[in-house]
Amino acid sequence: MERLQKVLAHAGVASRRHCEELIVQGSVQVNGKVVRELGTRVDPSVDRITVNGRAIRIEQHVYLMLYKPTGVITSVSDPRGRRVVTDLLTGIKERVYPVGRLDYDTSGLLLLTNDGELANRLAHPSYEIDKVYRAWVRGVPSPDKIKRLATGIRLEDGMTSPGEARLLKTAPGQDKALVELTIHEGRNRQVRRMCEAIGHPVLSLERIRLGFLTLEGLQLGQYRPLTSTEVERLK
Ligand code: URA
Repeated sequence: MERLQKVLAHAGVASRRHCEELIVQGSVQVNGKVVRELGTRVDPSVDRITVNGRAIRIEQHVYLMLYKPTGVITSVSDPRGRRVVTDLLTGIKERVYPVGRLDYDTSGLLLLTNDGELANRLAHPSYEIDKVYRAWVRGVPSPDKIKRLATGIRLEDGMTSPGEARLLKTAPGQDKALVELTIHEGRNRQVRRMCEAIGHPVLSLERIRLGFLTLEGLQLGQYRPLTSTEVERLK
């Protein structure tokens, strides 16, 4: 059950504030009865809700987790006709949008939803969700450089906020290393720029975790809906 004004706003009737006015004015009916009380709780999947006699159109919220491959743009359309992440969602009729962004050449966990409120909340810097990346970098960073990745690096748009970093492994005979980085921000190409700044450019990059969500059970290019428990935990 949700508050009537919230349901109306979600259905795109008007802003939450204007929806409240419509309710108070008596323009809104629930199951054939005018409802003027703000905060009335309704179940949009069961109750018939009209505004000035017209039924509102309710789109169910959809929450998806995609294992984004490289070579796909984090967008819903591309003027140059390149493949976008929503091209991978066969069978989803709702219009979902990516939450945040992974670069064209980054793979990994990407959330998509049509719940604008949750998407905004997740993207807001105050929502300190862990974003965990694994990067193969050129060369083998010293312990000191790994520490710098964790404590903060000066980038052209300011210091990065503290996170975690560790060296996971090296590749015998090859001049590269696998680094795991946990950050809480989402600046443009942040991990690539951080690694570049310590002199170890990224060779490949994957986001393996977002908060409590992992890629377990998904193959590259596959997606699955979040469970209701997962959605609740994100909120
Ligand atoms: N950091 C990057 O550099 N690229 C991404 O796609 C995500 C984080």
